[in-house]
This record gives sequence, C-alpha cells and structure tokens, in this order.
Amino acid sequence: MFSTRLQDAINAQINAEFVSAYVYLAMAAHFEEQNLSGFAHWMRVQYEEETFHALKLFDYMVDRGGHIVLQPIAAPPAAFGSPLQVFEHVLAHEQKVTGLIHDLYRLALEEGDYPTQVMLHWFIDEQVEEEKNATEMVAKLRLNGDFGPGLLLLDRELAARPKEED
Ligand code: MG
Repeated sequence: MFSTRLQDAINAQINAEFVSAYVYLAMAAHFEEQNLSGFAHWMRVQYEEETFHALKLFDYMVDRGGHIVLQPIAAPPAAFGSPLQVFEHVLAHEQKVTGLIHDLYRLALEEGDYPTQVMLHWFIDEQVEEEKNATEMVAKLRLNGDFGPGLLLLDRELAARPKEED
C-alpha cells in the first residue's frame, strides 16, 4: 500500500531536490562571475546531479502509480561570499538534505513500505558521498585561506570533475 502520507513526503523531496539544483546553478553563476570556471563547472555538474535526484524520485512515483504534485521552486540566494563560504553553505545544505532523506526513510519504516525503503538506500549512500565531498572542499579551502595562492590549482582540480553516471 502506497500511502498518501508517503506520496506527499516524496513529492516534497522532489521539490527539495529541485531547490538544491537551483542553489547549485546560482553558485555556478557566482563562480562564472568570479572567473573561477573550474568551480563553476563543479557546481554545474552538481546542478545536473540534483536534477537527476529529482527525476529518480519522479520515476519512482510513476512506477508506484503515485500522484505527482510539482511545487514552486524557491529562489536561491542572490549573493554568495568567498569560495570557502560557498562550500560551507554547500556542506550545511547537504546536511539539511541528509536530514530530509532520513525523515523520509523513517516514514517509510513507520508505514512498512519496503519498496520505498529499498529505493531510499541509494539516496542514503548518496548523502554520505555529498557530505564527504563538501567536507573535503571546506578543509582544502581552509588550508588555502579565502583567496590563497592555491585557489587556481583547486579551480583546475574542480574543472576535471566528470559528469555523474547513474
Ligand atoms: Mg540531492
């Protein structure tokens, strides 16, 4: 039984993933303006990845015969600070998303909805990866200082991020 409560929560998560995508797209724009094209590239790949997360949940709802309700996507911040501040924002954001995924999983447990639990295992793993990536970048940027001499090396490193495959 696919409960209405669970469908509402998955619809809310579809929206949260699109909100994430929009936040990363805004960060990509921010870095393009700063001429940090590697950072901008990383954010753009992240934007695509978040869109993929939303569509993965969308497809799951289709498979289960759920009712999809798309909500407005909240506007991202209009301004961001230094690269370190941006990645601190990324880390805080991903920690928040992890909390949402865990809430969703708890609900699927309460409802005894096994397929949703299995589907969410992928997202639980993914959040471990997201937090790890953000934590590493925060650490590197702290070592470098806000606009230290390693910034262009990091920019080159981020430029090499491949597009994600599922
Ligand atoms: Mg996501």
